[in-house]
Amino acid sequence: MSRVLIVEDEEAIADLEKDYLELSDFEVEIANDGIEGERKALSGEFDLVVLDLMLPGKDGFEVCKSIRDAKNIPVIMVSAKKDDIDKIRGLGLGADDYITKPFSPSELVARVKAHLSRYERLINSNTKPGNQMIEIRGLKIDKTARRVWINDEEKQFTTKEFDLLTFLAENPNHVYTKDELFREIWDMDSIGDIATVTVHIKKIREKVEFDSANPQYIETIWGVGYRFKV
Ligand code: CA
Repeated sequence: MSRVLIVEDEEAIADLEKDYLELSDFEVEIANDGIEGERKALSGEFDLVVLDLMLPGKDGFEVCKSIRDAKNIPVIMVSAKKDDIDKIRGLGLGADDYITKPFSPSELVARVKAHLSRYERLINSNTKPGNQMIEIRGLKIDKTARRVWINDEEKQFTTKEFDLLTFLAENPNHVYTKDELFREIWDMDSIGDIATVTVHIKKIREKVEFDSANPQYIETIWGVGYRFKV
């Protein structure tokens, strides 16, 4: 499910936008000022930002600029004045779209949908046809390019973390002991022991799991080892 961040200080407007987006099955959060909005937008938890221009704390121009410096998620800027839109364009802040108040909520929903599908196509085009892919729920592994995404957000893995995750994902529902995994992924000569496996599993979980204490992908089978759940 795509997550949308609304940065808007007028509560009634923010609530209306939220209601409509939720009706279209988006997960929505509201930030009431520019500082909180910027922090949330940069957190990596959102797929799109609806950003009001006039905001307390930091205005929409500044917030848009810092999002653009760090992320390529779509940003739809909202303004009460048509003149502002020319200004936004003129500044070249890299907003993906502009919408003037008052607008109909359904127009906003349509634009959010359009930008998200364009963005998803962009993300998917990063994976080349012919590459060997593993896709399990929100987890996507490109074996050829050795890249990993969780819910379309790319995560960085070390060589061994990647090898271990891929091995488990390719052999789902099979319980492996730490010994077996160590022999499989590490050379026999390599320095380390089965504790290395535990450390690597922990690091992988930090990247792929929403809640490491309640893993959705790599499950601990107490006293035995691990298994990749499907
Ligand atoms: Ca405002």
